[in-house]
Parts: sequence; C-alpha cells; structure tokens
Amino acid sequence: MQDVELISPQLAILDEEPYYHAVGDEVPLFESAWRNRLPVLLKGPTGCGKTRFVEYMAWKLKRPLVTVACHDDLTAADLVGRYLIVGGQTVWMDGPLAAAVRAGAICYLDEVVEARKDTMVVIHPLADSRRVLPIEKRGELVHAPAGFMLVISYNPGYQSVLKELKQSTRQRFVAFEFDYPDAELEAAIVSRETGIGADVAAKLVKFAAMTRNLKGSGLDEGASTRLLVHAGKLIVDGVPPVAACRAAIAQAVTDEPEMLAAVHEMSSSIF
Ligand code: ADP
Repeated sequence: MQDVELISPQLAILDEEPYYHAVGDEVPLFESAWRNRLPVLLKGPTGCGKTRFVEYMAWKLKRPLVTVACHDDLTAADLVGRYLIVGGQTVWMDGPLAAAVRAGAICYLDEVVEARKDTMVVIHPLADSRRVLPIEKRGELVHAPAGFMLVISYNPGYQSVLKELKQSTRQRFVAFEFDYPDAELEAAIVSRETGIGADVAAKLVKFAAMTRNLKGSGLDEGASTRLLVHAGKLIVDGVPPVAACRAAIAQAVTDEPEMLAAVHEMSSSIF
C-alpha cells in the first residue's frame, strides 16, 4: 500500500483562560497526575463541569486539547486513524487519539463507556506505564511524549451493566469525583456565565436542587449546571423565568407529561 502523507486533524490550542472555578483540590491533583504521566478518570453526572475543567487544565498546562465525544458507533479506527483514498492515492489519516499522542496533547475521551469495546485495545497500552499507541494498520507503535495525557470521563449514575467501566480499565486511572458545585458556588458560576443577577441565579439553583431530589423517583438526572446556564442565558435575553425553566430545564430532563407538569410546577413556585 502506498503511504503518501500523514494528515492530522486540528489540535485546539486554548489561548484564552477558560473560566473554571475550582470546587476542591482538583487543580493541583490534576497537575500532579500530569507531572507523573498518569492518566485521569473524571467521574460524575453530565453538565457538572468536567469538560470545562479539562479545558482549563489544558490551558494551564499549555497543552493542546483534543476532545472526543464518544458514542456507541465509535470504533478504535475512529480514534486511531485509517487509510483514505484521496485523488487516487492512499493517504493515512490520523484519528484524534493518534494526533493527540504525536502532539503531546491532552486527549479527552468524554463518556468513554459509550464507545465500542475495541477502543479499549488502543486505550489500555496508553493508560499504563507503556504509554504507547499501537497503530496496527501501519505496523507502527507511537510512544507518547511527556506532554501527552489521557483523560476519560464516565457517568456512574446511569447504573447499567452495559455502561460499566471495567476494572481492567478503571484501575489504570487516577480518578476524580465530580458533582454539582454547592449552592452558593453554583449560583456564582451561573451568574458569571450568563450575567443574571445573584438573586435569580440563587433561585435557579434552588429549582435545580428540587429536580435533583427527583433523581431515581421519576427523573434519570436532575437539572445540571449546564441547564441552569442555558436557562440563565434565556432569562438575560428577556424570556420570562418560568418559560425559560420550562424550555431549558424541564423539557431537557423529561418527556413524561406528569413529570413535566411537576417540574414546571416547581419552577412556578420559585419564580
Ligand atoms: P460536563 O463535561 O460535566 O458534562 P461541562 O464542563 O460542559 O459539563 O459543564 C457545563 C457548564 O457548566 C459549563 O459550560 C459551565 O458553564 C458550567 N460549569 C460547571 N461547573 C463549573 C465550574 N466549576 N466552573 C465554571 N463553570 C462551570
């Protein structure tokens, strides 16, 4: 097979400091993991700040960042790369993981359990002391440079056997537990991200807490910080709070008519 050139996907370099408010000691812990070339696992519900944290750390450590949103069709070839026919020639195209390893970037595999099982074959040798990426199709073994770091995220809340992270995978990572920030900090984050006043932000957080209490009794997940930010943006844009909460929060967390009515009722009681 004629191997013409290597095309790399774009690696994002963050010039501007992303806004991230630390919740605990996650920043120094992550820096220590990076210095020690250890891969990191971020556990926690959707929309609680994991992606923003990784963006902030990539900026702080001055590393390019490659983010992959994993889904159930994602294969090892999607991560590693494949040969393509371009203008009658065979061209190797690095996938995002290979590009990140070569560039010494931080590679963030979001919701890794969603990906096909064969992806673990390429993740495992990168996530232990070997720090290598086997590219079988090219007969190549890429050694990760010091700057490379593998970060994966996973939501243990889904509690499905199919979506469990196997011990052989999880025991390769330094794990961080994420959750929604405490009420005061979450209100400050929502206010900072959207420009809404502290009083409205505090009400949104109160509403979120009520929905989070319904987790397991009608809702799979309560309102995430991300949804509060969405609602806040609509409110700043002039949408009445109750309508903003219905569209950005209630409709996002459930399709169930009774549950929708209950969640809507909660927001009406607050605003
Ligand atoms: P996840 O990756 O956990 O699904 P994100 O990182 O996308 O969630 O967080 C969703 C949104 O919540 C962010 O875009 C940001 O606006 C806000 N957010 C959550 N936690 C924080 C935090 N600690 N500092 C700053 N913003 C935060």
